[in-house]
Amino acid sequence: MYIDTHAHLTFPEFAADLPEVIKRAQEAGLEAIVNIALDDQALEQSLALSAKYPGYVQTAAGIHPQEAKEYQESEYEKFATLVKQKQIVAIGETGLDYHYKLSPVKTQQAVFRRFLQLCQAVDKPAIIHVREAAEDALRILREENKGKLKGVLHCFAGDMTLGQGALDMGLHISFTANITYPKAHNLREAVKTIPLDRIMIETDSPFLAPQEFRGKRNEPAYVVKVAEQIAAVKGLTVEAVAQATTRNSKQLFLIG
Ligand SMILES: [Zn+2]
Ligand SMILES: [Zn+2]
Repeated sequence: MYIDTHAHLTFPEFAADLPEVIKRAQEAGLEAIVNIALDDQALEQSLALSAKYPGYVQTAAGIHPQEAKEYQESEYEKFATLVKQKQIVAIGETGLDYHYKLSPVKTQQAVFRRFLQLCQAVDKPAIIHVREAAEDALRILREENKGKLKGVLHCFAGDMTLGQGALDMGLHISFTANITYPKAHNLREAVKTIPLDRIMIETDSPFLAPQEFRGKRNEPAYVVKVAEQIAAVKGLTVEAVAQATTRNSKQLFLIG
């Protein structure tokens, strides 16, 4: 009854025990996991996982904004053809990350624009990563949205100008377990404000373990903790949050 809409199962942190990780996710009540593949090798591995766990491990393909400098315009058409296949349910993550600026800001912006164009050209949802770049991200989203953009702001960081702008465009907003951290008052305020029919949940594992496992590896089963926190903040049952977020995810990614 839960869907983890953002995990990185092909990261080395899962190399030793991925079958057990997926088993624990199934036992925790997860219906599906959207795995984010960010390079050719990860994509190949992800599609293999999607074949091994049909309907359970879903694949999204993109280039992380930190790696935007690796993007080659000459590969746009090849990538466009690739992401049209049914097994790829979304494009991303793409976006802007000004925290480390591992790729130049201008490059990140140009690649983000290309990916938003691609999403609309092939009619697939975007998984959007924004870190310390809310203003530029909102501007680019508004400029590139030709009325056909679908997608989710993943690992929402709490800037409600961006949040509201995204909601106005029809985008979804996804929360990770950082909403369980004691200091994350602004995120819990955002949870309160954002309507349940636009919320999705994710782990972003192996990162961002919930408070009770903080500092350890995160894994998809812990997405339940995100649903529990949303339920507590909104005064709802966990079942209601699980049902709504699962329905939202299925509608956006056309799965299930
Ligand atoms: Zn991200
Ligand atoms: Zn990610």
